[in-house]
Amino acid sequence: MKVNSGDFVMPGDFLSVSEQFLPGDGAYEDDGSVRSGVPGNVEIDVAQKEISVISKSGGPNLLKVGDIVYGEVKDVRGQRALITVHSKKDADRQLALPYMAAIHISQVTLGYIDKLTDAFRIGDLIEAKVTKIMGDNLDLNTEDANCGVVKAMCTRCRAFMEVANEEELVCPVCNRKEKRKISENYDC
Ligand SMILES: [Zn+2]
Repeated sequence: MKVNSGDFVMPGDFLSVSEQFLPGDGAYEDDGSVRSGVPGNVEIDVAQKEISVISKSGGPNLLKVGDIVYGEVKDVRGQRALITVHSKKDADRQLALPYMAAIHISQVTLGYIDKLTDAFRIGDLIEAKVTKIMGDNLDLNTEDANCGVVKAMCTRCRAFMEVANEEELVCPVCNRKEKRKISENYDC
């Protein structure tokens, strides 16, 4: 099986072995293979040894590794927080479809955290960097200063919280303090 420039492919379709081509936009590497991450048309750059997939839906809907995205925390369970990602930072429209994403506890902060609920709670809005794309699933990282929680509600009274210090938010209504991995862009 061999793909050519212009071929239409679907997410997960095999494009090349990774010794032959690097994954470009819309493509990702998976265990020695380069696969498509989006529905679209194949573009092969022989000089750069890069294979890309150009999405039908156009630029801002295409995520690539290194992009900064906004997501909502849906669950915090053991070593992983589960996030739905609806938009890319600085893009003028939402992604065509939401991505499901995960952040492993080792990818949250450069410092040590005891448990994942010291970084994220269900309902938090976060800013994070895309580190891996597998179809419509993402791995995210929030180690950078601009990444982490940008908006959070008090788990007791649901009021929006304010920054108390580097690692704690405080509720303006009930004064409850809660730990988070706080982005330097909190509440913007
Ligand atoms: Zn409160």
